[in-house]
Amino acid sequence: MHDDFSADGWGIETLAIRAGHDRTHEQEHAEPIFPTSSFVYGSAAEAARKFAGEEPGNIYSRFTNPTVRTFEKRLAALEGGERCVATSSGMAAILSTALALLKAGDEIVASRSLFGSTVSLFDKYLGKFGITTRYVELSDMSAWEAAMTPATKLLFAETPSNPLSEVVDIPALAEIARRHDALLAIDNCFLTPVLQRPIQLGADLVIHSATKYIDGQGRAIGGAVVGPDKLLEEVFGVVRTCGPCLSPFNAWIFTKGLETLGLRMKAHSASALELARWLEAHPAVERVHYSGLESHPQHALAKRQQDGFGAVLGLEVKGGREGAWSVIDATRLLSITGNLGDAKTTITHPATTTHGRLSDPQKANAGIADGLIRIAVGLESLDDIKADLSRGLDALA
Ligand SMILES: *Cc1c(COP(=O)(O)O)cnc(C)c1O
Repeated sequence: MHDDFSADGWGIETLAIRAGHDRTHEQEHAEPIFPTSSFVYGSAAEAARKFAGEEPGNIYSRFTNPTVRTFEKRLAALEGGERCVATSSGMAAILSTALALLKAGDEIVASRSLFGSTVSLFDKYLGKFGITTRYVELSDMSAWEAAMTPATKLLFAETPSNPLSEVVDIPALAEIARRHDALLAIDNCFLTPVLQRPIQLGADLVIHSATKYIDGQGRAIGGAVVGPDKLLEEVFGVVRTCGPCLSPFNAWIFTKGLETLGLRMKAHSASALELARWLEAHPAVERVHYSGLESHPQHALAKRQQDGFGAVLGLEVKGGREGAWSVIDATRLLSITGNLGDAKTTITHPATTTHGRLSDPQKANAGIADGLIRIAVGLESLDDIKADLSRGLDALA
């Protein structure tokens, strides 16, 4: 009666709904939640065998939990990876990966356009333990190559980037990593396995903030790492020992989120593309950054390695900071927040929020113009989103 959904040949929509659930003796149809910190044994001998690792089975929910395992197996199936380890947040996924696979003296080469906390984690915290990070322009393959040294053990990138939708050629980056005996990790938070499968494209590891589109409704914080068994066993060791484990309740939310991820990502992407085209034609808009637009310098690459372009777009409006703020402040429907990955559309001014700590030259270098607005397009009526933006944009035009 139970099919093995780890086997090849299932469509991604089927895996998203069916993979990872080992039905219990209760014959439940929906995935159950196991809110239990520990598990009991039939005998002292069984306990001894489980603690010694001689017999599989649950011991304690910092190590394993059946609800968390269902989420891990389902996400591994979707990403096409051997194994997944879930974590308490996206940042915990990145930290656990670094603690598991790097040591003092190792180097990371990363794209400049990373999530802000990732940069702090690399520079401030990993730096304290003798792991150094060098940053390069995401799409500049010769810069990646030039930054490699014998000490480089990890390449780390987000693609497409936030908020400018720059794209890196994942197979080409994987080739550089392989040639230098380093690992390639892709933070796949923005596209999810529905729109991009980095492991198939040659990456070793996929990192997720499940907080974003995997949940999709802004309810829970969580993360995950996906990759080969051998590397993930090390990541698992960090999670079970150091403690950044995912709670069963959040794992259940994410598992149910995965069931609708395909439908949601396609709807997010379709709305974002239509909105990007509409914005590009608006007289108050100077430029739109979205890899789905024909005007995007890497549109051909994005089309080749992605099955869609995601929900996040950047637009530069007339009037610099005042212009951007007037468009944001004229909205009534959109949520003014730095968060994203929600059914609710969000709008933010990167230069004074997510990138506010950067100096002016750093902002210029990162392409964060004063007139830049980031929108993470949600699932409301597109006509309502356009009307909400029109109020400010029409006044600026
Ligand atoms: C939000 C985010 C993270 C961090 O995830 P948390 O769940 O907030 O810890 C990492 N990478 C990207 C691209 C993100 O957007």
